[in-house]
Amino acid sequence: MEALSRFTNQELNHKIQFFVREERQATVEVLRLLREIERRLAYAELGYPSLFSYCTVELGYSEAAACRRIEAMRAMKESVEIEKKIESGELSLSAVSQARVAIRAHEQETNVKVSTEQRKSVMLMLSGLSKRAAEKVLVRELPVTLSARPIPERQLATGGTRLTLDLTEEEMSVIEDLRRLQSKTQNTKDLLMSLARRELAKKKRELGEAPLIRQPKSTAKVITPPAESKSPSTKSARAFPAPVKRRAWMKAKGQCEFVSALGNRCEARHHLEFDHRRPVAHGGESGLQNIRVLCHEHNILKAIQKLGAPVMGRYLPGRET
Ligand SMILES: [Zn+2]
Repeated sequence: MEALSRFTNQELNHKIQFFVREERQATVEVLRLLREIERRLAYAELGYPSLFSYCTVELGYSEAAACRRIEAMRAMKESVEIEKKIESGELSLSAVSQARVAIRAHEQETNVKVSTEQRKSVMLMLSGLSKRAAEKVLVRELPVTLSARPIPERQLATGGTRLTLDLTEEEMSVIEDLRRLQSKTQNTKDLLMSLARRELAKKKRELGEAPLIRQPKSTAKVITPPAESKSPSTKSARAFPAPVKRRAWMKAKGQCEFVSALGNRCEARHHLEFDHRRPVAHGGESGLQNIRVLCHEHNILKAIQKLGAPVMGRYLPGRET
């Protein structure tokens, strides 16, 4: 190993500049590889429910680093110019990521899609800017009201996530009123969580999925099978009867049943769907022997594998922009 202490300051400066260029080049190479991994759903075949999960678990990125890379990769997909700016170091991954989050918030609030040209021009404006300066440009170019601003999230050392909410006086008074009228006193966090859990269970019942209710910290996960629907909905040959779904859910323990070629079982417990192992079109029945629980990504992967490459195009382009 070279003794770094022997280098002059100028030599140190040259040396580090060389490696920074290499590092940048490697980052762009990582983004290109991620683009291909996403295009052919390689992460799903390897047993991951999302590209994000692949990046954090398989590649070992922190959640924030994975988000920045995925956002930058998708921005690169939209424009070669952006790719070049990232490669030259003029545009940082965090600036691109900031821009994409702001674009989404703006689109959600105004219900108007930001054109590809405008997206590109906003991102290019962020070239060479600090995080703070980039924020100012984004607020000017893509204004959103206080409540529509993305919620800042921070990963904590404990594994939890810190959310910071900016509420207007009127919004806060809604929460305060509800707290006052509740039969038992709850702090704001408990109140919001109980509302979210109730809403989640309701939505899952409506969609015929099991009401998966996560218990607060460290208690065992309670996995409840899907409830019987009150009124039998219009049943087609494709639909699994509720008792079949319930038993399949119990068997899968509320987790995606996809297993990769290397034997890795997907860990997804959200966005789960019931899938026919053998498609109805190929004579598959809607009984217990033909049902399995898959997450959305693996359901798509299986559909693509069953239906063949020509159908892929229908699912993939722009699926996750
Ligand atoms: Zn899965």
